[in-house]
Amino acid sequence: MTNRIPVAEPTLSGNERKYVLDCLDTNWISSNGKYIGMFEKSFADFCGVKHAIACNNGTTSLHLALVALGLAPGDEVIIPTVTYIATANCVRYCHATPVLVDVEPGTLNIDPAAIEAAITPKTRGIIPVHLYGHPAKMDLIRSITEKHKLFVLEDAAEAHGATHGGKRVGSLGTVASFSFFGNKIVTTGEGGMLTTDDDALADKMRLLRGQGMDPKRRYWFPVIGYNYRMTNIQAAIGLGQMEQIDEKLSKRRTIGTWYNNELAHLSEEIELPYEETGSRHSYWMYNIFLKTGSEQRRDMVMKIIDQAGIETRPVFYPMHVMPPYAETTQYPVADSWACRGINLPTHEGLTESCIKRIANHLNQAIRQTSGLDTNFTARAA
Ligand SMILES: *Cc1c(COP(=O)(O)O)cnc(C)c1O
Repeated sequence: MTNRIPVAEPTLSGNERKYVLDCLDTNWISSNGKYIGMFEKSFADFCGVKHAIACNNGTTSLHLALVALGLAPGDEVIIPTVTYIATANCVRYCHATPVLVDVEPGTLNIDPAAIEAAITPKTRGIIPVHLYGHPAKMDLIRSITEKHKLFVLEDAAEAHGATHGGKRVGSLGTVASFSFFGNKIVTTGEGGMLTTDDDALADKMRLLRGQGMDPKRRYWFPVIGYNYRMTNIQAAIGLGQMEQIDEKLSKRRTIGTWYNNELAHLSEEIELPYEETGSRHSYWMYNIFLKTGSEQRRDMVMKIIDQAGIETRPVFYPMHVMPPYAETTQYPVADSWACRGINLPTHEGLTESCIKRIANHLNQAIRQTSGLDTNFTARAA
């Protein structure tokens, strides 16, 4: 039995352990302590922004940003239909409405050409998602939001270190949100971060993160806030991770290149990921899309390679097929692409021989399923 290859796995080989032990040895285990400020500073510098505000996860950070932006019941926020559920849920937490927009082929990022048609008098902002590590088309998105005076909350949970027009994600909108869940590019176990250049917004987010306590008067609460604080232990892990961010990102690029080389001969059967001009992919997940067959075929391919000890994941189901957000509207690109997509293992522990093994089993699974469902059937609305 060969070793199982997980789809994602953290690498904690730097100072993470040393810094965590320091927290334990000094009793600074809660949400005060030096590592929080150090982690925030290193993250702000990395993104090239003035402020970084650490949170307890990447869903609370999204929610906190929306509260600080003043999102109110009845407001609308435009999001791509293909994303992780947290992007939609955070809008609902504010009793506002996520308005879904179709995505572009290949990257499955929000389609800028479809945004304007979704804008109404109630639209307050947009949450572009840098899906799987490829930046959304932020320059086109920004020209729309500036014209209509909308906020831009980047959901950068999957894209630490990706760039667009030479600038890192996290510095491309009004505010950005990151996740440090165990499978993300930088992890703190659970954790999140907000980045912004807006001083007033940063102050507001810090206030609301800590129950709304007046920073100048202890135990005085002028507003209703939340407890969305990160612990010093989480931040200790995060600082250890940030010290190695360059190596992490370059290893992910190497993995992307290995996959591209090993899978090139399958270009008749699968679409490979690519980088748009002016963007740099951070390869949170290396995705492939079957060119033919239904969702059943995709699931069969995943099952066959699972039996060979290789874990994969399906590309996210679009929001418009999820029960809380179900619509009868068709989103043609999302409908035809998401159900053919597979996340292949992407993490720093992978070697070139792992990639060869994965490519070999993927090739076999594609051959074995080639007779199945050759006519692609769009997902029923
Ligand atoms: C992971 C993720 C989140 C949420 O992060 P958590 O830390 O798991 O709460 C939000 N948006 C996207 C796109 C994500 O991938």
